[in-house]
Amino acid sequence: MNRLESDQCDDNNVVIVVSPLEYIRVQQVERLKRIGVRAAFLGNSLSETHGLCSEGFAQVLYGSAEQWLSDMGTSRKGQAAFREAFSRVSELRSFLPGGTPALALTATAGEDMRKRLAKFIGFPGEHFRIIVSPNKNNIRFTIIKADKHLNCLNWLVEMIRDKKEHTPFTLIFCQVVNDIVFIMSYLLMQLGSSNFYVRGNTPEQQSSLVGVYYSQTPQSLKDTVTTSFEGDGCTRVAIASSSLSMGVDFPNVKYVIHFGPSKSLSSQLQEAGRAGRDGSEAFNIIMYLRKHIRNCEKQVKHAIKSGEKSCVRQALLSHFDKDIQPNVPLHACCNTCHMICKCHGDMCNVPLFKFDNASIEEDIQVTPIRTLSEDDKKCLKNALEELQGSLRSQSPVAVLNCDGSHLFGLDTYTIQT
Ligand SMILES: [Zn+2]
Ligand SMILES: [Zn+2]
Repeated sequence: MNRLESDQCDDNNVVIVVSPLEYIRVQQVERLKRIGVRAAFLGNSLSETHGLCSEGFAQVLYGSAEQWLSDMGTSRKGQAAFREAFSRVSELRSFLPGGTPALALTATAGEDMRKRLAKFIGFPGEHFRIIVSPNKNNIRFTIIKADKHLNCLNWLVEMIRDKKEHTPFTLIFCQVVNDIVFIMSYLLMQLGSSNFYVRGNTPEQQSSLVGVYYSQTPQSLKDTVTTSFEGDGCTRVAIASSSLSMGVDFPNVKYVIHFGPSKSLSSQLQEAGRAGRDGSEAFNIIMYLRKHIRNCEKQVKHAIKSGEKSCVRQALLSHFDKDIQPNVPLHACCNTCHMICKCHGDMCNVPLFKFDNASIEEDIQVTPIRTLSEDDKKCLKNALEELQGSLRSQSPVAVLNCDGSHLFGLDTYTIQT
């Protein structure tokens, strides 16, 4: 779209763009306007939209599939409405004069998805296809087992403490809200006051270096995260659901961490692709517990399994690019290739990264677990209430670890209810 110049747009022709995300529609319209193209997006009411079209205002007009097919009389909402509308996009083409060119663009899609999309959009068998490999050589991959105490994130805690407001931009994708809360609590507890970037003495002048972003996050906090990541803001680490991976363009994210891989390989790669968009060295680190793998698609399970024994890049990308090869030097490819890198004679002169070793700590940790009786639970509840009361007047202290374990007595016990 950036290549579209104002004088290339014929006033008699309108380019219509079907785009699912409002964020993208707004962003693209702003960009086009800046280069002198009369661009607009469909309004919420029919009269608003009619005005845009009949007055010949727009040369490029954006709308979601639902908006373009607003007469379809569906009572569906959200994802269901989107899927139904998108499956009928080919109908739009029947309203246009014969021979009207159509262009379909999609992010990461395997062969089966490409075929389905071509069918939805009503492309004939002989349409042109331009396929670009989603491989990005500046991203190095890691797959490791996480540990339930989150020691696997200690390198990140250290980095935030050390670099503060200069911490490289880091996205942590979680598949469930519980994991977002779990990681946020852990980072807050570990970081304490190091989580705050202080510009002055008033509370308004203190910013949290770690933020969260998922559907229930208040819009103002979402905006803090996106504006920080778009520019040079104070929120440097965002713990997010996949909603943050869609339609955003953050130029310099260095680390994308997956706490549990995405459900599908295509979303896994799309989210990984948020890293290193400026072309500089970046990392995608997949950390997982056994429970994370259960609901993933078969291809993801297979990729995780094979990525632990052979090249992670090949495991994740061969579905989209059959010719994918490990990066050279091997230490720049993935943690598995790094182990066999001989870039310096018969050895590698680049040490493994801290996060490559993170899961080793789990083996050292031995956590005694016992099942609590009803009496134990009552006793614990009373103790917690008592402690909570005594702490109320003091600084806020978490009496429970985020995994439900507490620190009474000499040992750490996990509460099993
Ligand atoms: Zn590799
Ligand atoms: Zn090497």
